[in-house]
Amino acid sequence: MFSPLLPVKIASIYHGDLPNRMAKCTPDMFAALRDITTELANTQDSLVLSDMYRSYEMQLQSHLDFVTGKKSAFSPPPGGSMHEAGRAFDLDLDRIKHMGLAAFWPLAQRHGLRPIIDSPDSRKSEAWHFDCRGSHDLVYQYYQHGKGDNFERPYTALAASAIVSTGQKVDKLGNDPRTGYVQSGLIRLGRVIGDLDGKIGPKTNAALSASGSIRRKVSLPLPIKSIASSRQYFPTNTLFRGLSHMTSTATGSW
Ligand SMILES: [Zn+2]
Repeated sequence: MFSPLLPVKIASIYHGDLPNRMAKCTPDMFAALRDITTELANTQDSLVLSDMYRSYEMQLQSHLDFVTGKKSAFSPPPGGSMHEAGRAFDLDLDRIKHMGLAAFWPLAQRHGLRPIIDSPDSRKSEAWHFDCRGSHDLVYQYYQHGKGDNFERPYTALAASAIVSTGQKVDKLGNDPRTGYVQSGLIRLGRVIGDLDGKIGPKTNAALSASGSIRRKVSLPLPIKSIASSRQYFPTNTLFRGLSHMTSTATGSW
């Protein structure tokens, strides 16, 4: 089962809530947004976003704006941004100025979010960007350890894994997201399959055979009824926590 992208209602810099086309995210990001908003409710700071989800076309436009100099902040081509997976947001740093970015970092970390820069300096480019990696961090580590080498950086593999797992295509992984999704799942289950490339070759097939015992419990793609039983295989994924709240809070007031 691909990860759903849930509609969210959240304050933005655009005179009201974040526009619908950007206001979508994965269930674990949804839970993080809700919990951080709640945590900041009685403070002078608040979570106000300028960007979150980007479709393939929106990411392409964002990249072209960077390439042509219309925007100065770096934006990768489609397939390389966690925004496309509904797993990243950009926040208005002015709205957390009372606590400051250095205090926001550990708060974000408690809710499974990571910055994309190496120190909490609000003058740095991308100081506003936070990712919800979930279990896709295992794909980052896989590439960091050299088990695959077809992506420029581990981060690009992380983004591709996250995007394809929402059922959206990543050019590098072919037109059908299901093959990349199966490979991403195998890597996150601890299998070594070589590159995440969208091609079901001998290594992927061998890993699928070796995962036979797992497949009997959680066939790939995962049927809904198997989500609970697959929980043990995705220890860092808070998908399940988010799913339990998605129906009750998807149209909440935040
Ligand atoms: Zn961003």
